[in-house]
Amino acid sequence: MKVFIACLGTETNTFSPIPTGMANYQETMLFRGDATRHPPNLHSAPLHVWRERAESDGGEVVESIAAFAQPAGPTVRRVYEAYRDELLRDLKAALPVDMLLIALHGAMVADGYDDCEGDLLRRCRQIAGPQTVIGGELDLHCSITPEMCAAADGLITFKEYPHIDPHERAQELYDLCRDKALGKTNPVMAVHDCRMVSTWRTPIEPMKSFVARMQELEGSNGILSISFAHGFPWGDVPCATARMLVISDGDEAKAGVLARRLGQEIWEMRHRTAPEIVPYKEALQRAAALAGPVVIADVSDNAGGGAPSDSTFLLQEILDTGLTDNVSGLYWDPMAIRHCQEAGVGAQLNLRIGGKCCRESGAPIDLNVKVEGIIENASQPFGRVTANIGDAVWLRGEGNVNLVLNSIRGQTFHPDAFAQFGMDLSALKLIVAKSSQHFYAGFAPIATEVIYASSPGTLNMDFAAIAFTKLEAPYWPRVEDPYVDTDGQGN
Ligand SMILES: [Zn+2]
Repeated sequence: MKVFIACLGTETNTFSPIPTGMANYQETMLFRGDATRHPPNLHSAPLHVWRERAESDGGEVVESIAAFAQPAGPTVRRVYEAYRDELLRDLKAALPVDMLLIALHGAMVADGYDDCEGDLLRRCRQIAGPQTVIGGELDLHCSITPEMCAAADGLITFKEYPHIDPHERAQELYDLCRDKALGKTNPVMAVHDCRMVSTWRTPIEPMKSFVARMQELEGSNGILSISFAHGFPWGDVPCATARMLVISDGDEAKAGVLARRLGQEIWEMRHRTAPEIVPYKEALQRAAALAGPVVIADVSDNAGGGAPSDSTFLLQEILDTGLTDNVSGLYWDPMAIRHCQEAGVGAQLNLRIGGKCCRESGAPIDLNVKVEGIIENASQPFGRVTANIGDAVWLRGEGNVNLVLNSIRGQTFHPDAFAQFGMDLSALKLIVAKSSQHFYAGFAPIATEVIYASSPGTLNMDFAAIAFTKLEAPYWPRVEDPYVDTDGQGN
């Protein structure tokens, strides 16, 4: 059996002003056929799984491009087309192929392409032909489209947010596609539109039990796979809403009934699962009144959702209200880092920090700081893998106000992003991490309390007010009942 593997993706925040071009892919992940000869990261991990599985089954593996960009604005058209066409050329050269497995994101938008995954999978199908089994692994923050479902035999999304399960989902996709290739099963997909725009945290109830239930339902009664695609709230595309995807063995009606039933369960839990987000000034007031360390997530400036990660709203409030003994970051500020590297460790300098990228970054802040530490090519843990954060600088201002700046834009995954400099986080009153949810696994154990804060950043947490132009269908929470609004049936 010949198995073709590849990766192409990014999570596109169509409201982000940062263009996604060649440099972003090169900085985040770009391999040309040899990703599995390097240590796995979040995006290449599925390729490692698929190679291992295919080779242990005695198969031949053809590995193509593995390209992934840190979330930002739409991918530049010529960049998307270049990577896509490279993958398609490799596929053409590898024909005939029994299985084609691609690690995608599912919320990738390029100039002129609202649905990159649909475009890519359709072209793969055209080249590979009807006999090749095509499977895609998706981030759960994806937009499932009819084009994707029409072109693929099977799509499986992560089940966990934070994303701790790309390995497990890659195993399942391999099994699903291999069984189809061997003629053991006939996977068919059904999708139910939940007509909701929100975020769902899976380590906590009621989502924790919902994920467990999805898994209990898999593997029996002809149900092969169940995915809850949360959607990506900051991607303005026609299919942006959350969708339930069920794959059954040859029975589309059965898959459809279950998808609808599970979608209704998600709907009924909507008030309990809606994220509790506190306006940032109130969040800082609450933190000030508590014993530390309190962890505040600066959700609206999460680079993992396409934000610049240089917004200063929380920092300005920390300074204005005189909060002491805190650390915040990671601020993406290559220019300030350049000054710190020139000045060296121990230097005291007036530094202009953050607020550089766009209006949603806020104003830059001029602060007198001491350069306490510099780490070149720093990294931080993220689950089983390591994320490169570039050159990182630890700054300390008056009142033990600490900041960590870095040169490769990315969210704050883990306390080590700060602690690797030698600072004692347990002695601080407040820790601000620029992240929406991936920070949680690492930071929750050291926090007396975790608060999710909204600020005027790139990720508007008021889901009812997101300025969609291409998502035209009614959705909750913009309307109270999007089903009544369209078909009068209620939900
Ligand atoms: Zn995601």
